[in-house]
Amino acid sequence: MLLENKVALITGAARGIGKAIALQFAAEGCDIAFTDLVIDEQATGTRREIEAYGVLCNAYQGDASDFETAHATVDKVLADFGHIDILVNNAGITKDTLLMRMTEQQWDAVLNVNLKSAFNFMHAVTPVMLRQRSGSIVSMSSIVGLNGNAGQANYAASKAGIIALTKSAAKELGGRGIRVNAIAPGFILTDMTAALPEATLQEFVKLIPMRRGGTPEEVAKVALFLASDLASYISGQVIQVNGAMG
Ligand code: NAP
Repeated sequence: MLLENKVALITGAARGIGKAIALQFAAEGCDIAFTDLVIDEQATGTRREIEAYGVLCNAYQGDASDFETAHATVDKVLADFGHIDILVNNAGITKDTLLMRMTEQQWDAVLNVNLKSAFNFMHAVTPVMLRQRSGSIVSMSSIVGLNGNAGQANYAASKAGIIALTKSAAKELGGRGIRVNAIAPGFILTDMTAALPEATLQEFVKLIPMRRGGTPEEVAKVALFLASDLASYISGQVIQVNGAMG
């Protein structure tokens, strides 16, 4: 059990990669607090799947891009669980279009949900981890945050921001026992990528040397590694999970 007696807070985990991370952590004995925009049937179902591992789980409704909500959520998680050992900044959205056509709203929405949310939760969780003198923070970047992508200037900028935020926080917090890392997935099969037209999906797969999209579970295993003591001397890093793409 790699995460026994630990508590993880994961943003946007009702489905997709966040859910896979929650289940992977729960299988290793970790209690789970997760957030989502709405706590609907899907989120309740995810909570039941997590609890089936015999761990505690609470779901918290809230927009991760809202600073006050993030702080209030961390306060509630602390009251419910007593400590927070792992933070996973996973909540993310896309609003793809060419730069010339991109509206201010599309830019702001993606930067707020993907990047500001990570700042919000790190800002709220860091004092807790400082008191504990330990903690692991894992944030979801993307291959396009490293390489850029036509039609995703807002998304790529948000994911590049995650990398700079990660490296800076790792330098600020390393002396206090807190590790901060990022994962840069390539093309992962979730609702986010299922929304792409079939032809675009096929084009993507041709660009992947391993000739397939990754699974949320393949990303979750890397999150488990970074969150656990297996990665006790790893901080400020970005691990790509991309089937050799890029
Ligand atoms: P997904 O299937 O679309 O799931 C995203 C989750 O985030 C959903 O549960 C969603 O909630 C939640 N969410 C969205 N906006 C939120 C907000 N403002 N506050 C709280 N929760 C919010 O996405 P995914 O593919 O699992 O992606 C997870 C992360 O990995 C994202 O950061 C994404 O950018 C990154 N990533 C994904 C890929 C890929 O190929 N899939 C590649 C690289 C990086 P609702 O259910 O309420 O909408």
